[in-house]
Amino acid sequence: MTATTITNVTLSNGVHMPILGLGVFKVVDEEAESIVKAAIDAGYRHIDTAAAYKNEAGVGAGVRASGIARDQIFVTTKIWNSEQGYDTTLAAFQASLDKLDMEYVDLLLVHWPVKGKYTETWRALESIYKSGKARAIGVSNFQIHHLKDVLASGTIVPMVNQVEYHPLLTQEELLAFCRDNGIQLTAWSPLMQGNLDLPELAEIGAKYGKSPAQVVLRWDIQNGVITIPKTTTPSRLTENANIFDFQLTEDEMKQISALNRNRRFGSDPDNFNF
Ligand code: NDP
Repeated sequence: MTATTITNVTLSNGVHMPILGLGVFKVVDEEAESIVKAAIDAGYRHIDTAAAYKNEAGVGAGVRASGIARDQIFVTTKIWNSEQGYDTTLAAFQASLDKLDMEYVDLLLVHWPVKGKYTETWRALESIYKSGKARAIGVSNFQIHHLKDVLASGTIVPMVNQVEYHPLLTQEELLAFCRDNGIQLTAWSPLMQGNLDLPELAEIGAKYGKSPAQVVLRWDIQNGVITIPKTTTPSRLTENANIFDFQLTEDEMKQISALNRNRRFGSDPDNFNF
């Protein structure tokens, strides 16, 4: 695989974002440098971290260790819930830059819609965006009603909404709302946290010589959804990126979408307590 096989999506402000990235939730800081470097060596150009993952230092070190120019790598980080509010967000963002040891990030997200706080947090992201220290800004775990609040109170439409999204949670209404408003959806836990044991995925994959993971990731990108599978297994880095040489039929796409059970592996954005 070469870097050029991973295609880009163009965000509403014209910034290009690779449609596949590496997620690093639960990767310890000490391990982050080596897995990020291995991913970049394997052709990845997009890394998804967060202040809450406590591995921004390792991620930054991995990007530098890769030897690839900073402007060729797309780095996302997120403002954690306890830091939400205007001034606290500005300070939290600077702390993230310091840990990453970077001058800017490519994408900055509000990690969760903390009640009573997220519109103020969004105002801070708008000012960070205007300063040039985040090339794009967006939200995460926002339902339609949260997005409507931000559209009503803010002056910039979020460029991205990163949510749990996979064949058991297809989020069709949310995806349609985002498309209608020029908001790019990104899938977190795209591999259902490793719960890939669905016979339909294996059957479809067998036709193409692809694994269930590859079928799911291909379904994401054919739906126009950015995907950020996590792995710390080097062979899976390559496996998960090897999805640009086959195409699912319309029937197969529908068959996978029909697996939906509105099943969450993570928290519900309307009912979380952290
Ligand atoms: P994923 O759905 O990406 O699943 C990761 C699990 O799947 C790991 O156990 C991994 O094992 C395994 N796996 C990876 N590749 C394969 C494969 N080819 N075949 C079989 N198993 C595989 O879960 P995550 O929850 O980590 O989500 C991905 C990313 O999304 C996170 O890392 C994070 O960046 C982001 N995220 C964002 C959230 C938010 O609130 N914004 C919330 C949760 C996640 P192993 O590593 O051992 O190979």
